[in-house]
This record gives sequence, structure tokens and C-alpha cells, in this order.
Amino acid sequence: MAIFEHPSFDAHESVHSFYDEATGLRAFIAVHSTHLGPSAGGTRFWSYANSGDALRDVLRLSRGMSYKNAMAGLNLGGGKAVVMKPDGDYDRTALFTKFGEFINTVGGQYYTAEDVGMTTDDMRTIRTQTKYVAGLDEGDAASGDPSPVTADGVFRCIKLAADKRGLALKGARVAVQGLGHVGFTVCKLLDEAGAKLVVTDVNTDALKKTCSEFDAKAVAPDDIYTQDVDIFSPCALGAILNPDTIDQLRAKIIAGAANNQLSVPGMGQELQDRGILYCPDYVVNAGGIINIAGEIEGNYSKDWVEEKLQGVEKTLSDIIDQATRTGRTTDTIADEMARARIGR
Ligand code: NAD
Repeated sequence: MAIFEHPSFDAHESVHSFYDEATGLRAFIAVHSTHLGPSAGGTRFWSYANSGDALRDVLRLSRGMSYKNAMAGLNLGGGKAVVMKPDGDYDRTALFTKFGEFINTVGGQYYTAEDVGMTTDDMRTIRTQTKYVAGLDEGDAASGDPSPVTADGVFRCIKLAADKRGLALKGARVAVQGLGHVGFTVCKLLDEAGAKLVVTDVNTDALKKTCSEFDAKAVAPDDIYTQDVDIFSPCALGAILNPDTIDQLRAKIIAGAANNQLSVPGMGQELQDRGILYCPDYVVNAGGIINIAGEIEGNYSKDWVEEKLQGVEKTLSDIIDQATRTGRTTDTIADEMARARIGR
């Protein structure tokens, strides 16, 4: 399979493939950039149709981590791991024990953490084989679940974007898509700030829980885009800003936790043409990696995390101001800033 000619290859410093017949492990680790420090990004455990899909994912996601870590002002590069879910039966502990061994062979150029499909137990298993893992809930400088910090960062960015548009959060109408680890806490913070919530989730238990705890109106998943709201906060899936959804949107501000919200880069221009302020996802959702970075850098403290979160607010503020001044899109400006910070 071609790597250097791959459409998602972006001068990645190294791409590692791992195979172990006994456990059924098939995995990739991609180190996009170590310009700012060792690379860091989560491990994704997913059912891929083939290794080509897994490779594309790891190449794209690792580049995204370079951008996210750089924009959050961290001394970390960008990397990512994907583990292909084996077909049929497999021993989960054996699989992640082997994967931990493999991470160790990358020699500290890549630090892992939890991502989609992984559990805290999997992370503990990996930790038995390598020290290059963060975001655990025990041990030295354990920073625990990063989701509340991600939600805190998302809330701050929503508030900042609202301020820039002269909108008070008290009484503002906000649609939240996805009420999981991050989305639920975003709702809590918005509710405390006096916003009026419209929420959705494909998981009806999550929907019921949110509506019972906060004054929120529930809508069907496909109806979230058409709601008459001021702000839309995507906290579920990627690629939700696409040709099908974009004309349905009535919100004038978009800020949420989901990764890769724009289906293609050109969507940023489409949003701007419709007068919608798009807050770049990897700037908005950096709270979790900030929390984890404190652990990796060995200087974890609440004050340090707070300082970095304030840095995120400042960066988003600069991006919005620059977009307003120049008429360029927020995502283009963010990409350029990120590439400059990683020396590209
Ligand atoms: P999660 O799995 O806990 O929650 C996601 C929620 O979205 C679930 O409740 C799920 O049922 C719901 N959902 C799925 N498909 C949906 C649909 N079509 N419509 C409505 N709801 C749907 O995940 P999370 O940790 O809360 O993360 C949310 C998003 O933020 C993800 O895209 C994740 O990659 C991103 N993110 C999370 C963190 C973090 O710290 N957890 C950090 C950065 C980015």
C-alpha cells in the first residue's frame, strides 16, 4: 500500500504498522510531527472494512492532533493510533497487552490516551507494558477523565463567540447534538448560564437524563439542524457540516466538541457566506488534550490547565478578529496558524 503517495499523507515523520497473529492485533501508529515535542493523541479501536481505511484514518487524525496540540500551546506534537477490531472472538486483554508492547517500541515519540472505542480498563492494560500513556485515573499525576475539561473549553468558546456577536448567553437559544461525556456537561454549563436548550441524541436514555436534569427541549436527531436557535453545538459526530445540513441551519454561531465537523474544507466558506461564525473544532475541543498534556509534561496542576484554557480563548478570539478584519474564513486562518506553529 502506497504511503508517500497516499492522499492523506502530509509529510508524516513516521508511520508504524503492527501485526500479531496470536492476538489478532492489526494496528497503525502515525507520528505526524514532533516539532513541538513528542507526539500525543488517542488510540481509536474501531471496525474498519480494511487496512486502507484504518491507514487513512490514522494519517488524517494524527495531522489533526498536530494542529490541535499546537493551537493549544502545548509542547506536544501530533500522533494517533488505530487498532482494527478483530473479526470474531478475541481476548481483549491479550490484544491491548500486545499493543502496549508495540507502543513502547516507538520509544516515546508517541504518547497514547483514550479515544473512541477504548475503555479505562484497556488503558490500564496498555500501561502494564509502556509508560507512554496518559489520562489514567490512578498513578503519578493521574489527570483522570478529560471530558469535563473538554466541556469547560467548549463552553468558554461558545461564550466568547457569543460575546463577539453581541449575544448574551442568558436567554440565548442553543442546540446541542450529542449528550455523552462532553455534551451533557456542556448542557449543564449552558443551563447554569441561563441559556435555553434544545437537545438531541440517538440514545434515548441520554436524552431523558438531560431533559430531566435541565430545562431542555428534546428533538429527533435529524431535526436538530432546523431548530430556530442562536448557537449550534455539535458534540456527537464528525462531518455534520455538509451540503445536506448546511442550508437547514438557522444558528449564527457553531462551536462544539465533535472532531472534523466540516465534511470538506470548503464548507468553511459556505458557512461564512451564510453569515455563520464557525469556531474551528480543534481549537474549541482542546480541553481534554490540555488536561492530558499536563500529565505527560509532568507539571499537571489545575492552575496550569486553567492557564492553557485561557490560551485557547485568546487564540479563538484572535482567529475571529482576524476573520472579521480580513474576510477570510476562520478554518483557513486556524489551519495557517497551526501549520506555522509546527514549522510547516
Ligand atoms: P460520547 O460517546 O460520550 O458521546 C457522544 C454522544 O453522541 C453519545 O451519547 C451518542 O449516543 C451521541 N450520538 C451519536 N450519534 C448521534 C447522532 N447521529 N445524533 C445525535 N447524537 C448522536 O463522546 P464524547 O466523549 O462526549 O465526545 C463527543 C465528541 O467530541 C466526539 O466527536 C469526540 O471525538 C469529540 N471529542 C471528545 C473529547 C473528550 O474529551 N471526550 C475531546 C475532544 C473531542
